[in-house]
Amino acid sequence: MVRPKYRRVLIKLSGEALAGDKGIGIDIPTVQKIAREIEEVHDTGVEIALVIGGGNLWRGEPAAEVGMDRVQADYTGMLGTVMNALVMADSLKQTGVDTRVQTAISMHQVAEPYVRGRALRHLEKGRIVIFAAGTGSPYFSTDTTAALRAAEIDAEAILMAKNGVDGVYNADPKKDPKAIKFEELTHVEVIHKGLKIMDSTAATLSMDNDIDLVVFNMNEHGNIKKVVLGENIGTTVSNKK
Ligand code: UDP
Repeated sequence: MVRPKYRRVLIKLSGEALAGDKGIGIDIPTVQKIAREIEEVHDTGVEIALVIGGGNLWRGEPAAEVGMDRVQADYTGMLGTVMNALVMADSLKQTGVDTRVQTAISMHQVAEPYVRGRALRHLEKGRIVIFAAGTGSPYFSTDTTAALRAAEIDAEAILMAKNGVDGVYNADPKKDPKAIKFEELTHVEVIHKGLKIMDSTAATLSMDNDIDLVVFNMNEHGNIKKVVLGENIGTTVSNKK
């Protein structure tokens, strides 16, 4: 069997990945499909942490734009990520993978609180850990959560699983047929070119902590595993080129 390229990774899924064709809400068959893919990756022996967004249920910023208090709106968004995490944990458990949800906002009845040491022990024991409720603070995103938790658990890479986009382009490939895909980029290039991989706080945090980003299309079966095994199917962002 091919050895995985990484020892420990953090997979970032947008909330929309869980919505399937509906675009909003949670589509259970879609979650089950993603869980089976992640289980295949888990079988390679790589340690996996997951951060799932909440955009399929709620986003704080647009709610604030139409008059809601931003902090309250962001807490609502963070709770949405917990719903996604609980549903994904259930699907992962049903595929036979031991999984734990840790939340940045305490809710002892439904999940463990985020405790770095405990998360590390779960990972070492081969459990998947889902980090939910974002950073626990408003004004941040789940991309920033992914960068922060990846740094805290010493993950070698963040796998940015995208819906239907197979990497980073110099223009929007859905609008511009001449858009060119980058195979490799540095964090500095991502920030200076304003490439929309993740928000700027998350990009800076990844750069400062030397965490690679791999941007790839998760809609093709087996792609997460290919990335973990070191196939160059998307765009890799690192501090060296
Ligand atoms: N959020 C937050 N702090 C965090 C992470 C998330 O306030 O640390 C809120 C914010 O309102 C955001 C929502 O949770 O709009 C959902 O997260 P995000 O937009 O990152 O989800 P994604 O786009 O990845 O689905």
